Formats: sequence, structure tokens, C-alpha cells
Amino acid sequence: MSTLRQNLDALLQLQQLDSERDKLVRQKNTLDTGANLTQAVAAAQSDYEHKAAELFSINGSLKDAELELASIEKKIKDYESKMRQGAVTNTREVMNFEKEFNQLNRQRAALDDKILNLMEKSESQTAVVHSAQNKVTSIDRDLSTTKESYHGELSKIESALGRMTASRSEIAKLVADSALLKRYEALRARPGNSGIAIARTTQSTCGACHMQIGTIAVTQAESGSQLAICENCGRIMA
Ligand SMILES: [Zn+2]
Repeated sequence: MSTLRQNLDALLQLQQLDSERDKLVRQKNTLDTGANLTQAVAAAQSDYEHKAAELFSINGSLKDAELELASIEKKIKDYESKMRQGAVTNTREVMNFEKEFNQLNRQRAALDDKILNLMEKSESQTAVVHSAQNKVTSIDRDLSTTKESYHGELSKIESALGRMTASRSEIAKLVADSALLKRYEALRARPGNSGIAIARTTQSTCGACHMQIGTIAVTQAESGSQLAICENCGRIMA
């Protein structure tokens, strides 16, 4: 038959282990799983695709303008060769001919401007696309690093928790008073207790809530002559 003091000492041991375990569980829950970076990669990827589509469209317009220019230049050449051959002689025809010829030249000048402008746009958009692509690569790399470290940390914590579960059942066996053990578990689970059910008294105060306690209670707690409960927080004092 074990004494109250022995039961309290076993409970204190259990409390120490449980607190370490709680701390590990909290650590586990705050590990960075890479969820934010996964979202960031998706956003960067979509941004890149949007910018690449814009470049594709600019390059399409450029190609169209170049084809249009080629066709106008061909027409201009045809006019020039007709003029050289002296194919147009009638005054009215000559006037119309010149009018159309000038019109074609104006179109060519406008297209030249348009092409130059599109080429500049294409060049700057290409740089924008490259930078967006680099951003995806860079965030993706960060994500891999984060995931790797997450899995490393997680497996360390999991194995530590596994070891603790094994030693916990050994320590729990040392608490012979099953009613006391139940009380301990209930106190640990109580909201606001932060998982602390038992604490040593320190300088006449409860080791859990740090409120001053009477000298009789201190003596009871320390000697284990009688179960001492903190009047303020209801936890077991030892
Ligand atoms: Zn207390």
C-alpha cells in the first residue's frame, strides 16, 4: 500500500511528462506545413500564365501587322513597276493612281509605327514574363525547403510523442490511488487549467496559480499527510 506522498510524487512525475507532451503537441500544431507557400505558388503561377497570354497576344498582333505590311509593300512595288512601264497614261487614271499610291504609302508608314510599337511592347512584356516565371521558380523552391523541414520536424516530434506514450503508461502505474489519478485527469482537462493539475508549493504559494496559501495547507501539501487542494484554483498541491 503506497502512501499519499508516494502517489503525489508519481503524479508530479506524470505532470512533468504530460506538460512536455503538451508542449510538443503545441509545437506540432504550429509547424509550418507550407500551406501559405502552396497558395503563393498557385497565385504566382496564375500571374505568370496571365502575363504569358498577354505576350502571346502582342506577338500575334505583331505577326498580323508584319503580314499586312508585306502585302502593302507588294502592292506598292506593283504600282511602281506599272509606273515605270508607263502603263497608266490617261490623266484621270494618273490622278487616281497617284491618290491610291499615296494612300498605300501612308498605310505603310502607319504600319511601320505600329510594328515598332508592338516590338517594344513585346520586348518589355518578355521581360515581365521572365520575371514572373522566376518568381514561380523561387517560391516553389522555398516551398520544397519548407515541406522538407516540416516533414523532418514532424517525424522528430512524432517519435518523441511515441516514446512519451510508452513511458507515460509506466509512470501512471505508479499512481496506486486510482481516484486520485482520475481527479488529476479531470483537473488537467478543465478549461483554463492549461493542462496543469498538480504543482509543488513554492514559498507558501500554490505552484500553479501562485496565490498565497495557509501554512496548514503548505504543511499538508509538503508532508503528504493529507490531500491539499488550492482554495484559489482547485488544483492538487504537493
Ligand atoms: Zn492554485
